[in-house]
Amino acid sequence: MIEQGFFELLEHWDGLGVLVRQDAPTGTWIFLAIHDDTLGPATGGCRLKVYDRPEDGLRDALRLSEGMTYKWAAMDFPFGGGKTVLAIPRPLQEDERRGLLLRFGELLNSLGGRYGTGADLGTTSDDMQTIAEVSEYVIGVHGRSDGPMDPSPFTALGVFAGIRSAVGHRFGSSALDGRKVLVQGVGAVGGPLVHHLAEAGATVLVSDADTEVASQLAAAVSGVVVAPPDVYMTECDVYAPCAVGATLNKESIGSLQCAIVAGAANNQLESPDDAGRLVERGILYAPDYVINGGGAMAFTLIYQGLEPLSAVEERVLGIGAHLTSIFEECERTGISPVVTARSQAERVLARGPGHADMSSFADLRGRLAL
Ligand code: NAD
Repeated sequence: MIEQGFFELLEHWDGLGVLVRQDAPTGTWIFLAIHDDTLGPATGGCRLKVYDRPEDGLRDALRLSEGMTYKWAAMDFPFGGGKTVLAIPRPLQEDERRGLLLRFGELLNSLGGRYGTGADLGTTSDDMQTIAEVSEYVIGVHGRSDGPMDPSPFTALGVFAGIRSAVGHRFGSSALDGRKVLVQGVGAVGGPLVHHLAEAGATVLVSDADTEVASQLAAAVSGVVVAPPDVYMTECDVYAPCAVGATLNKESIGSLQCAIVAGAANNQLESPDDAGRLVERGILYAPDYVINGGGAMAFTLIYQGLEPLSAVEERVLGIGAHLTSIFEECERTGISPVVTARSQAERVLARGPGHADMSSFADLRGRLAL
């Protein structure tokens, strides 16, 4: 990956703006990126992570907030794209973490509802509860809904539906019996996904940086463990990236031995050119922000009062039909799934808010009865 500095990163970003702050007590860089607010207030999770360089944290914030713009637009939900990265210098003690989250809450307040946050990689609903002590611009906290607070099982369900859709499109039947699916990263999303796949009859290949976790899960579903360095040259029908972003690049795409890439990770393509590389290799790709939208979709629907949970799950499973429509459009036009999904989302953005006009997170909270 080419290393870029703050200014170079911002020069090539087309978002609305970034709020940058150094949290002196912990030495954390806070990057709060608002990419777009055409459809509603910018909304996206808060990632907390140790990065090699603060610039890598900014890069994540920029890319992830842009991804949120397209994720919400793909679902036609009334939110804009935003994301926060708390780039911590080292793992924090409990009281340091609490202090950081409270100060971040005050920062949210200073934006007056232009951005709302939730849990993401490295943060939990308990963390959101801490932020909620000082700020109302947070979702996914205890006591604000009877629904579950963890979006990951819904994300896993949506990815499962997406894999079935891609298998159906590529092989003529969405049956997973005997299909080999390699899941890279078996955490909050990859873990439940592995169980869905195994229950549907797939042979699951399991890989995780934590080899103990991978071995235990593989044993539970009669699957096979794949060592992390072997993922990209292991033969399978579907490669499901569910760990980190940017695993699809010139080198890895050249090695892949799969027919389909369909997984939960955000920002799977290292560069836009990688979409073309996948097409050249004849690999069907399910655009990340479409296939991994299940958690965000479920949270919104639950807050809107959709019941019972089976109705929410039904809507999440609809991600499969959405992907099928994208794949069919690609077939007709010869354009890649990445470009097709982006054009669909851009049409929604060009149309503007399809719902009641909401200029702030507070309006939205009122509407969703948060
Ligand atoms: P998680 O932290 O619970 O799990 C990630 C897993 O990947 C861990 O088990 C970790 O050991 C493993 N891992 C990390 N680096 C790895 C590597 N290089 N190779 C193999 N394994 C590695 O995270 P999660 O919530 O399951 O999210 C997974 C991905 O899906 C992330 O990219 C996240 O941004 C994306 N995503 C998650 C959600 C959600 O609802 N949780 C929604 C949308 C997108």
